[in-house]
Amino acid sequence: MHEWSLALSVVQAVDKWAREHNVEVKKVVLGVPSISMLDLKVLQEAFDFLKKESRLEAASLEVRVRSPRFKCRKCGYEFGEEEVKAQIEAVAGRYGEEYPLHLMPELVPAFVRCPRCGSHDIEVDAQIRVEEIETT
Ligand SMILES: [Zn+2]
Repeated sequence: MHEWSLALSVVQAVDKWAREHNVEVKKVVLGVPSISMLDLKVLQEAFDFLKKESRLEAASLEVRVRSPRFKCRKCGYEFGEEEVKAQIEAVAGRYGEEYPLHLMPELVPAFVRCPRCGSHDIEVDAQIRVEEIETT
């Protein structure tokens, strides 16, 4: 159900923006980090349902899945998600449907340790964000 919450917040935020600018939205590009493990099919369905009777009624949704880069602030080590895949999968296994990184992937440093020094002091760009809006 996280996909529905996310779709709702995207539709509401973009609709508000479109009303303020008096435009109709043709397309929304959403960037999501791979670690959020969202079901993109469900996200599309939710978007198509929730956009009705808004300025996004005719809009399509494009989702770009981004693979985040991590950097340890303690030892300076830079790494990709493949190096912490097992740790992230363990979090998903522990929380199941309540997987905390669905909606707040930027919380990943709380769950991941630097593969080199074990520190949690990790920098990562893992926000879900609206990257582009096309209007008519
Ligand atoms: Zn480190």
